[in-house]
Amino acid sequence: MEKFRALVVYENEDGTFERKIEEKQISDLPDNDVLIRVYYSSLNYKDALSATGNKGVTRNYPHTPGIDAAGIVVKSKTNDFKEGDEVIVIGYDLGMNTPGGFGEYISVPANWVVKKPENLTLKQAMIYGTAGFTAAMSVDKLQKFGLKDGGKVLVTGATGGVGSIAVAILAKEGYQVVAATGKIDQTEFLKSLGANEIVNRNDIIDEKKALLRETWDGVVDTVGGSILASAIKALKYGCSATTCGLAQSPKLDITVFPFILRGVNLLGIDSVECDIEFKKYIWDKIANDWNIDFPDGFYEEVTLDQINEKIDLILQGKIKGRVILHHN
Ligand code: NDP
Repeated sequence: MEKFRALVVYENEDGTFERKIEEKQISDLPDNDVLIRVYYSSLNYKDALSATGNKGVTRNYPHTPGIDAAGIVVKSKTNDFKEGDEVIVIGYDLGMNTPGGFGEYISVPANWVVKKPENLTLKQAMIYGTAGFTAAMSVDKLQKFGLKDGGKVLVTGATGGVGSIAVAILAKEGYQVVAATGKIDQTEFLKSLGANEIVNRNDIIDEKKALLRETWDGVVDTVGGSILASAIKALKYGCSATTCGLAQSPKLDITVFPFILRGVNLLGIDSVECDIEFKKYIWDKIANDWNIDFPDGFYEEVTLDQINEKIDLILQGKIKGRVILHHN
């Protein structure tokens, strides 16, 4: 039986967690419909939570994280996929309680799997990964809720995975993009992605007033907390903000005034459990309309042996752009 390498997280008796690279057997994987040889995965914030023992993400250890995977079908029990198909899996239970893309093989239900669109390579798919997919979902939803052509759109957590790809997609679509960041020294990086203006995230926070001057035609928020609350208070009449993350805080301390006086909308984004047909639609958008030629240095490619240190950095908010994992 074929052996493969995987990063495995162990829970020690004293409650600490330890990460090891190990040799596993295919028979160690769950017996699901589709066995996939993973060529690329990527690092998301949630992977770092799983890799450090966050029980809200992963209940049982030992465990292999990796909520993203792009690879080639090795075996399939259904007619939907055949050996050699190039496929993408993101979300559902992958990397949470099902062994994920930080291993060289995954075994998953067929209804988690999307055939890779033609205009995207496996590597490109993972440069986007869940982060890019979530950015694309956010822009798609703002547009469905009537985002004005050429409008002024605020992106928070702008140097992060979701934020940076949202900046790039919005710029490609011709919006005026304002990037809010805690890393003001990354101004050139954000400009290279297409941001028109860069603001210090602390400068847009106002915790006192119930309403702020109408500024934004749309908001893509990735951080929650007082930044999201302030952004909602500064939405123009009838406009919308998306919420996908909690890098600052899961709390939202706000009155109903922006909603009942300005008719603004707060739109929830979930990339994990959304329908597989919707996932295909978003991947097609990424492969075609939103296929971005990212600037040099936007992503860093690492091996399984190098992913460990990146896990700690993403939790400290110190990663810019994306980290992709290449299994040789
Ligand atoms: P990253 O860690 O790559 O980026 C988060 C960014 O948020 C950082 O780069 C930083 O950007 C900013 N940030 C970090 N800490 C703070 C803080 N204390 N206060 C304010 N801003 C902060 O994560 P991702 O982009 O991958 O994910 C962003 C969020 O979205 C996470 O909470 C993640 O769990 C969530 N998410 C949700 C999904 C869903 O389906 N709902 C899917 C994917 C992600 P800067 O320095 O530029 O301000």
